[in-house]
Amino acid sequence: MFPLLQPTYNFPLVYAALCIASLASYTTLDLASRISDLGNSSQRRWWLAGGAISMGLGIWCMHFVGMLSFSLPIPLGYHVGITAVSLIIAVLVSYFALDLMTRGGLSAARLGISGTLMGVGIASMHYTGMAAMQMDPGIRYKPLIFALSILIAIVAATAALWIASTLRSNKIRRVFMWRVGAALIMGCAIVSMHYTGMTAAEFPLGSVCMAASGISTNWLAVTIAGSTFSILTITLVLSVLDARLQVKTTAYVQSLKSVNEKLQHQAMHDALTGLPNRVLLFERIQLAIDSAERTQKQFALYFIDLDGFKAINDSLGHAAGDGVLKELASRLKNVVRKEDIVARLGGDEFVVMVGNIPDAGMASHIAEKLFECFKTSLIPDQASLPISPSIGIALYPDDGTTVDELINHADAAMYEVKAGGRNNYRFFEASMNVAMKRTIEIQRSLSAAIEKNEFFVQYQPKFDCADDSLLGAEALLRWKHSTLGLISPAEFIPIAERSGQIIALGKWVIDEVCRQMRAWHEGGMKPLKVAINLSQIQLRSPGVVEDILHITAAHGISPSMLMFEITETVAMQDAEATMAAIRQLQDAGFELAIDDFGTGYSSLSYLQQFGVQQMKVDRSFINNLTTDEKGQSIVAAIIRLAHSLNMEVVAEGVETEAQLALLKELKCDQTQGYLLGRPMDISELKALMVDIVEM
Ligand code: C2E
Ligand code: CA
Ligand code: CA
Repeated sequence: MFPLLQPTYNFPLVYAALCIASLASYTTLDLASRISDLGNSSQRRWWLAGGAISMGLGIWCMHFVGMLSFSLPIPLGYHVGITAVSLIIAVLVSYFALDLMTRGGLSAARLGISGTLMGVGIASMHYTGMAAMQMDPGIRYKPLIFALSILIAIVAATAALWIASTLRSNKIRRVFMWRVGAALIMGCAIVSMHYTGMTAAEFPLGSVCMAASGISTNWLAVTIAGSTFSILTITLVLSVLDARLQVKTTAYVQSLKSVNEKLQHQAMHDALTGLPNRVLLFERIQLAIDSAERTQKQFALYFIDLDGFKAINDSLGHAAGDGVLKELASRLKNVVRKEDIVARLGGDEFVVMVGNIPDAGMASHIAEKLFECFKTSLIPDQASLPISPSIGIALYPDDGTTVDELINHADAAMYEVKAGGRNNYRFFEASMNVAMKRTIEIQRSLSAAIEKNEFFVQYQPKFDCADDSLLGAEALLRWKHSTLGLISPAEFIPIAERSGQIIALGKWVIDEVCRQMRAWHEGGMKPLKVAINLSQIQLRSPGVVEDILHITAAHGISPSMLMFEITETVAMQDAEATMAAIRQLQDAGFELAIDDFGTGYSSLSYLQQFGVQQMKVDRSFINNLTTDEKGQSIVAAIIRLAHSLNMEVVAEGVETEAQLALLKELKCDQTQGYLLGRPMDISELKALMVDIVEM
């Protein structure tokens, strides 16, 4: 046994070493979780490098402060080069450890190997640091304790890696407490490894520190501890700040996601009713087709269009209209099951999709249920403004196997309901498809038809009932389509009304009539009053009276030579608005007639207030005139009513001598019909006029 130098310890420095070790551990754990979150980005490499430097510095500094707390009764110092090497070892080991900790998926075997490598790394740093003292004779180590110190280093390193990977797994709440606890344990482990290593060292009496003239120990103690402490703190603060930023970014990403979800919802839903819109509906139909293909099941599409909705919007305002749509949306949803779809296509069009329909009987049953939604008024206390549905039904797969086919066929069936008197439902039939295609074709060619000069006007004469003299004519629009041939206005006018093209078309008619009347006058003909039909869309369009006055003025036609016919249904639908339009036209000097009288429901008081010149009794009444007693008494009543309101009565569709004779008896004022004159070209009308004058 050699006599040994007795070391002493400076305990405040021992505690400082413990603090630094724990702080370094905490920083490392914090960094580890930070780096794990970064995935494989380039940021990761920067954080790894920075983290390795601060962690390496931490371990190394702890080691050095630990060394400084140790003193021998001889002057001590450290060789700068070797000290630097020990620092480099600490940083490299830290890099290796951090990289490992943050890669995830640490198996037991890998944990063992990495822990061992890291432990050995820390130990080599320690013993390299010791070597920097350059003792002469060299330090001797007690083999067992030396081995123990390496073991402690390995266990501490393995524990550190394990704790870091456990903290990473996010399974643990209160991460902060865990980290603090783990950091303290690791700090203790590192410190005990250090002091175990120191205990293993023996300094024979007479040893000399060859590096005593190197770095001064006191100076080292203060600088190293101070700078390491600040570096660790800065790293920790940076890491926490960056994590905050990350949290903010995450919150931002979250809110962006929720905004996107809202936008997506908006893009897929109708704002007013919250129902799925066209986009979502089409998507759902596609899904239904896909699933029905697999399960061999049927489903039904109901295309619902409202009749009478416009009247509510016009007379009670848009808020009332919106209320109707919302109420209807909720009623429809209540009728069907949760998994069925109620969608709004826009305006007053709804589509209901019902899955799992075994047969047409079931489909009818559901149509009846949809009908019941309209049984009670959709707006409180407004029974006088009824809304009724026209429902077209298409079944998958019989009526179509694609989204477009199904929708178009349900739409076509709905159209047929409208054409057949509305307020009903119908299943799609193949013949409707032809009708639908024709409708589309007509609508498509309408816009070009004016330029292509395909329209012309015919005139049907109106005669005095008493003496059959010519009193005027009604202008009737005609269309000679390039491929479809002559198309009836009864067919294309409703289509033009739906698409809004009626406005331009209506103006064209007025312009054409005025042009021909101008020529008529210039040809020296006796003036003739012409009646022009006005569509409801035209009548309701803003500035219509100004437009008409503009046209008549351009041709130099006096308004007193023109009469406008408005159908009874249209006039009564929104009587207040009609009244205003009628007043304007009358004030401008035009005459007016109520067309197709008897087909709608008139209010006597409005008829009175309108104060129009003529009432045209619908053709259907004239038809029944001579067939039964009742038909005759109705016409008689209408004529009496008109006269009591100071209106002239025009009988439409007079086809037989018997009808004419009876109308004369009933004191009807004017007649119009195939018997005395079919619609004709202006030249024929001229000839007729000349004949009559010459007679
Ligand atoms: P409307 O105003 O009731 O016109 C009378 C319709 O009855 C005309 O049909 C005419 O040809 C037909 N008619 C006349 N006398 C007889 C008869 O004795 N027997 C039979 N069976 N029919 C007769 P048209 O020309 O096919 O017009 C149909 C409807 O189209 C018109 O009904 C009118 O509502 C609309 N219409 C025609 N031209 C225009 C127009 O320029 N503008 C607007 N908005 N609608 C028009
Ligand atoms: Ca008419
Ligand atoms: Ca008529």
